[in-house]
Amino acid sequence: MNTTRNVVIVGASVAGLTTAVTLRTLGYDGRLTLIGDEPHTPYDRPPLSKQILAGTWEPDRITLRTDEELSALDAELLFGRSATGLDIAAGRVLLDGGDSVSYGSLVIATGVNPCRLPGTDLAGVHLLRTLDDALALRAALLRGPKVAVVGAGFLGAEAAAAARGMGLDVTLIDPRPVPMRRQFGDRVGALVGQLHQDHGVSVRCGTGVNQFLEIDGRVTGLELTDGIKLDADLVVVAVGAAPATGWLRGSGLLLTNGVECDATCRAAPGVYAAGDVASWHNSHFDAPMRLEHRLNATEQAQAVARNLLGEELPFAPVPYFWTDQYDARIQAYGVFPADADLAVLHGELENRRFVAAYGHRGRVVGVLGWNCPRELRKLRQLVVDRAPWSSIGAQECLTAAW
Ligand SMILES: Cc1cc2nc3c(=O)[nH]c(=O)nc-3n(C[C@H](O)[C@H](O)[C@H](O)COP(=O)(O)OP(=O)(O)OC[C@H]3O[C@@H](n4cnc5c(N)ncnc54)[C@H](O)[C@@H]3O)c2cc1C
Repeated sequence: MNTTRNVVIVGASVAGLTTAVTLRTLGYDGRLTLIGDEPHTPYDRPPLSKQILAGTWEPDRITLRTDEELSALDAELLFGRSATGLDIAAGRVLLDGGDSVSYGSLVIATGVNPCRLPGTDLAGVHLLRTLDDALALRAALLRGPKVAVVGAGFLGAEAAAAARGMGLDVTLIDPRPVPMRRQFGDRVGALVGQLHQDHGVSVRCGTGVNQFLEIDGRVTGLELTDGIKLDADLVVVAVGAAPATGWLRGSGLLLTNGVECDATCRAAPGVYAAGDVASWHNSHFDAPMRLEHRLNATEQAQAVARNLLGEELPFAPVPYFWTDQYDARIQAYGVFPADADLAVLHGELENRRFVAAYGHRGRVVGVLGWNCPRELRKLRQLVVDRAPWSSIGAQECLTAAW
């Protein structure tokens, strides 16, 4: 069979589904199989920690395609099935029931799995990755518990905001000095911390979790590394995620940080990866990259579909992501290295209405907008152009420890 006449996609969320849709849109009329281990029709994840947790959206609103649209794909949909192995020499994906599916071309889009801490299995402890996780967490929050959120990255910060929005007593804990430091650095991270404090969250940064406290298998609190003991009836663990590559062990693919790919997102002849699981060389930044962002999953899947059909062009996007917390929408284009310089281009940090540029090795590598979507869109071009850092006219330039 011609390699482009039998495409199998593993992972049926945004990256996997977008690959399938793009292939059909581009005229691919061969065999198409989409395998996903979740029982649900593919759905969108960003609303899970926002509208679904807050209860403002019903789950059917986050469905990515209707049943009619899915059947129009003319694909074999194996939902509720897990890929358990990959035999590249034989061109086969092994499945949970012991059967297998042959492929001519394979797309790996299995995303990431949430990291766990010792204690995650206790009753009252929640992870947040799937629709089922979000619905279970929402139901538990409705019982009015005292909440501790471990990890103040995107997910933890959004979960804390949602819980606080329900009027609950919330503590946000992170071993780093400020929330979202890994994403945005110290200066903007401190503003995120202030935002949460202003909304009544107890922010405990610079301290980790020593152990989960429990009675009869149910969490009752946390002992922190500074010795403090916190009461909590519900704990959200949001301490990052790891690429879902367990099923690829022994396949011969390089799995250092997700599925390692070249600049065209190809991991091996006829094998591509897209979305959160894929690590590739982004030539725009001349750097290896693996992103856990919604827009990247879509754009990378579209690029993979084109490359699979013969385009073979590098995928070199300027990443975009956002987070919603209370009345704040923080949007970011580009990359935000830990040792970047920061300059305010519009507005003021203290007002929490601004656009800031991040400079690294003499170039603008990122722009971040806090409740400034219009200004941010204009300034995005600085990252696209890799503008010299010396060329930006900043109101406030903070080259030291931002
Ligand atoms: C709660 C939450 C909020 C988010 N909010 C934002 C946001 O505000 N902004 C933003 O930019 N991004 C956000 N993201 C990230 C964004 O949702 C992801 O980048 C996006 O979902 C990645 O899509 P994906 O298809 O690559 O992976 P995933 O969405 O993880 O999908 C992978 C799919 O593959 C399945 N799978 C895994 N292993 C196997 C296997 N062996 N066999 C079969 N199927 C398998 C998984 O179950 C899953 O359904 C958020 C993520 C979460 C969890």
